[in-house]
Amino acid sequence: MKTDTHTDVRRSEEVIRKHKEYLWPAVVNYYQKPLVADRGAGQHLWDLEGNRYLDFFGGILTVSIGHCHPKVTGAIKAQVDKLQHTSTLYPNEAIVALAEKVAQITPGKLQKSFFTNSGTEADEAAVMLARMYTGRFEVVALRHGYSGHSLVAKSLTGQAPWRGGAGVVSVGITHALNPYCYRCPLGKTYPDCGVACANDVEDAIRTTTRGRIAAFLGETIQGVGGFITPPPEYWKMVFSIVKKYDGLFIADEVQTAWGRTGKKWFGIEHWEVEPDIITSAKGMANGVPVGLTITRPEIADAFQGMTISTFGGNPVTAVAARASIEVIEEENLRENAHTVGAYFRQKLEGLQEKYPLIGDVRGMGLMQALELVKDRHTKEPAPQETVQLMERTRENGLLIGKGGLYGNVIRLSPPLNIGKADVDEAIRLLDKSFAELKL
Ligand code: PMP
Repeated sequence: MKTDTHTDVRRSEEVIRKHKEYLWPAVVNYYQKPLVADRGAGQHLWDLEGNRYLDFFGGILTVSIGHCHPKVTGAIKAQVDKLQHTSTLYPNEAIVALAEKVAQITPGKLQKSFFTNSGTEADEAAVMLARMYTGRFEVVALRHGYSGHSLVAKSLTGQAPWRGGAGVVSVGITHALNPYCYRCPLGKTYPDCGVACANDVEDAIRTTTRGRIAAFLGETIQGVGGFITPPPEYWKMVFSIVKKYDGLFIADEVQTAWGRTGKKWFGIEHWEVEPDIITSAKGMANGVPVGLTITRPEIADAFQGMTISTFGGNPVTAVAARASIEVIEEENLRENAHTVGAYFRQKLEGLQEKYPLIGDVRGMGLMQALELVKDRHTKEPAPQETVQLMERTRENGLLIGKGGLYGNVIRLSPPLNIGKADVDEAIRLLDKSFAELKL
């Protein structure tokens, strides 16, 4: 959808050429012809050729309150003019104000934060701290999970394509079955299954560890895995198993925090479980790099030796995060994510009725997914059709995400401050794109 006179195809092609020449090819690019992003405002993003898109992926669930939100950019600009960087060697007002705010809204007794720059670092720090606190090494994670791009994070990840070659995997991490109801790893059906997949966490501990563990780490809703949403009983069951074997329960809320799932600040609150550690990143600062590892004081106090993150929670990041959280609070966006999310879900289910390609609709709040299958009975994944849909939606002016181990899940995660009219427009564009597929 061209709405801008600022077109520059040549510059765009130059960026694509240089990207190929100077960046690692392993860094994933969406679309046959890469989309060269130029600017954003609210729920819209423009490419360098002047095409405008309705952004229903938000830089991977990161643009929580719309591109370049004035309150966030205002806070950043004011802070940059005052003090840009100190490192964590000197306390400053911005970092303690953020830490206090985060402590107030996280569940239970979570109080002490370690700030870094990414979800990868947040998960890595959580695992390291759990190992120090418990004096044990072994960690249980879930199949189909995703934890990031470092050695430990890739090892926690339960999706082969994201784990890298055998040479980049660290030891001491074991993977249990995940609560993938649409493709139950045990071939059962909810609720008759009795949520048997949760018991596999116990099986994994008993069969592959020394019997007591340092921690369990799981995403409340598996994000990259395709918004795999556990049944209501699941997390309480896993939590009690983890406690039975003396581990810390780490909730990876990199994708599911800050109101994304509707009503609650953190996804895990829907399951009424109080984690020992929460990790987050992405949507916390609306696009400014940030990582958070928050825990109870006695756990944080068990850290051995010294640690530092030069950029972690720097003043600019801290004010951006606090401003983002304040906007979510002041504008009641957790409620909006719930209400508009429910409306969106209903419309997506309408599309499912129309297109047999849509095998499953799942998610919570403004974190909704469509799993595409060639045949609803066999559930054979439809990755080529998913790629085609990505191309069609891009052509039609809508940005969406892709995920799932089989590359067949459409991920939808617009800013939390969209309205029903934006949902209507996204549904119209999705509908048009589905209708245009060559099946
Ligand atoms: N955990 C989860 C659940 C994630 O989705 C991601 C990123 N997709 C990470 C950790 C790693 O975050 P980052 O890319 O910021 O390092």
